[in-house]
Amino acid sequence: MATPTRLACARSIFQWHNETGNIWSHLLSFFGAVWVHHHAATSEHVLRHPRSTTEIHLAFHAFFFAAEICFLASTAYHTFQSHSYWTFQKVYQLDLLGINTLIVASFLPGLCLGFQCQPNAKAFYVALILVVYALGLRLVALEGSVQADERLARDRKIFFVAAVTFGICPAFHFALSHGLHSEEVLLLGYLAAMFLLYGLGFAVFSLKLPERFMPGLFDLFGASHFWWHLFVSCAAYVWYKGILELHSLRCKTTCL
Ligand SMILES: [Zn+2]
Repeated sequence: MATPTRLACARSIFQWHNETGNIWSHLLSFFGAVWVHHHAATSEHVLRHPRSTTEIHLAFHAFFFAAEICFLASTAYHTFQSHSYWTFQKVYQLDLLGINTLIVASFLPGLCLGFQCQPNAKAFYVALILVVYALGLRLVALEGSVQADERLARDRKIFFVAAVTFGICPAFHFALSHGLHSEEVLLLGYLAAMFLLYGLGFAVFSLKLPERFMPGLFDLFGASHFWWHLFVSCAAYVWYKGILELHSLRCKTTCL
């Protein structure tokens, strides 16, 4: 079969095939992220709030840019992966770069707001997640042969799961330093919801649900990868709602 041109791949965004759901789920998420980013940047309740600091601005923008990069990179991967093996490798790495960036950047607003009054703990966790980011970049940059791809994919999967799970450490620290019945700790429910969504998405993705029970039925639409995309988009949005709540709480209080 002849290799499709890049233009043909780009045009396929508007055609119905087995990647249409994967492409559009993250392309629409990208537009959604841009819209929410714009709203947050211009709202007097969010980044235009007089008590919102430059550090908080940077952390929010980093999170939004990371979400936009992640959704756009994923769209590019699902659009161009069928072009050639070389292109597949490049867009796959781009997709992974987007995931790595979103995981790490998601920590930033949480850490900046959560440890606003504990600068040492904040600096420690931010430095730690930057190390995690650098390790992730190293893993993303590795190129496997066709045969070694499966092992490399497994290692990357383990790394990303570990990087997300690491979020439990600052969350515990946050809970202990604020008291288990404080208003702030109730907001950890958003973190739990984000973990749950990522966890469910990962389970669906890894167990290949629902196509493993009805092979062939979801070949064109509704296979596990599509649901994984939706879970990732929802997890990012739920996390945004959580940091938004924490931001408005922080705007009402001052450090002692
Ligand atoms: Zn995907």
